[in-house]
Amino acid sequence: MKLESPWIESFMVGDLQMRCSVVTDLATGDTIIIDGGSESERIISWIEGFDGVGPNWSTGPQSQEDMQESGVLSRKVVALVNTHAHYDHSGHIPNLLQRYDVDWYLHEDDYFLQTLAKTSAARRGISLPEPAEATQKISDEQTLDFGSISLKILHTPGHTLGGCCLLLGVSDGPDHLFVGDTLFAGSVGRTDLPNTGGDFEVLSHSIKTKLWPLKPDTVVHPGHGPLTSIGVEKLTNPYVGQSSQSNDGFIGKYM
Ligand SMILES: [Zn+2]
Ligand SMILES: [Zn+2]
Repeated sequence: MKLESPWIESFMVGDLQMRCSVVTDLATGDTIIIDGGSESERIISWIEGFDGVGPNWSTGPQSQEDMQESGVLSRKVVALVNTHAHYDHSGHIPNLLQRYDVDWYLHEDDYFLQTLAKTSAARRGISLPEPAEATQKISDEQTLDFGSISLKILHTPGHTLGGCCLLLGVSDGPDHLFVGDTLFAGSVGRTDLPNTGGDFEVLSHSIKTKLWPLKPDTVVHPGHGPLTSIGVEKLTNPYVGQSSQSNDGFIGKYM
């Protein structure tokens, strides 16, 4: 089911400025948090009362009054969903699960990686809570309903084994695709990280077979850096775009 009135927010969080996306259906208030990697306090305060530092980018209300004008009285967090399990994307899931009694959705092939979040972050001097365990699996080509919000799951391994892109259909405007570290504006995710199953050939295949067939105006929300679109990356991305050459030895950008 396509969303009629999506409200999408990007919060750039943590030491790696990872994009945590919050998606709300303005018709119902149902809300999902994609990649709750860091700054959970900030996200919770904003969702619950517009307090503190708001999003870095938003398509919707900026205040309680704005929200009420749109007809929504409050937001209800109905699920946590992850593109993959690297610590910058999953580190504050335990805090969010403490606050919200909801399921955490992750691809099974990243279940091992989720157990390493705390130790990988500690190596960079960052302190995280004990990792949570995902409570629901997501798998390729599945369409899942989170309250009134539907996402189509595209399994796109290559950056990690269980990496997925999440497609949000919108009835009146471009679709939105949350890609984690699979694709960036002008780059792709790293494929050299330990315990992760990174492989450039696999990543390139995932992008070309799963993402390039999507509508060119689909808005791409990468895990790091600016927004882009399928059409622009398909044409100009130097590593996986139409004009890309061979990329022997290329290991990508961002973890
Ligand atoms: Zn990342
Ligand atoms: Zn990553």
